[in-house]
Amino acid sequence: MTKFAKPSAKYAILGDVHSNVEALDVVLSDAKARGCTHYACVGDVVGYNANPRECLDRIRELNCVTVRGNHDHYCAVEEKLDGFHPLAADVVNWTRGMLDASQIGYLRALPYRQTVENFTIVHSTLDTPEMWGYVFDKFEADANFNYQSTAVCFFGHTHVPLAFEKTNDVRFGLYNKVKITFGRKYFINVGSVGQPRDGDPRAAYVTYDLRTGEVDLHRLDYDVAGAQRKILDAGLPERLAQRLALGR
Ligand code: ZN
Repeated sequence: MTKFAKPSAKYAILGDVHSNVEALDVVLSDAKARGCTHYACVGDVVGYNANPRECLDRIRELNCVTVRGNHDHYCAVEEKLDGFHPLAADVVNWTRGMLDASQIGYLRALPYRQTVENFTIVHSTLDTPEMWGYVFDKFEADANFNYQSTAVCFFGHTHVPLAFEKTNDVRFGLYNKVKITFGRKYFINVGSVGQPRDGDPRAAYVTYDLRTGEVDLHRLDYDVAGAQRKILDAGLPERLAQRLALGR
């Protein structure tokens, strides 16, 4: 992939896929149908669901620019899982056993943050990405803005699609569309492909048209029952299957 594509490039930006290949395949075909030419991922390709290998293969085949999420990190290193909820820790341990050496090497090489064209991607925050902080309010977003040198930065981790806009103050909220205005800064959560937590169980991702400066959030139905069945068949916690239907 060329690092600097034409200004006409249209990006699909996705994250928190979390090994949900049913959701990922629906997102990728929608992005293709919408004319996306490039792909970026804000991390957490693996964790929670039952298809880590398949999701990693899809992301790698796309030449998708990807940063490291906390699940990507802990699935690829043999560190203690002290900070993890017990349900998440179970799946990290299970996922470690599913990945081959090439997949582990890929995850270990992922950067914490990455500049792509004229925007940045990070899983949690730019100020301390390795601390995996959650951004839900304007104070947390403002700490990030101090370290953001591009007008737009996309992030994930909370699985809640909130957009933060900085002028003199920081305004934020849920969104369907953000039009990038010159002179302002934006910190935009792209929602989660594989485990949404905003009460809407549909898969989420955004498109970013560099030519028009428009960011659009897309929500898509996918085979939730199929993904749930795989979680149960793999012996992963039942609660992880249930939450997919709730979007929580
Ligand atoms: Zn996540």
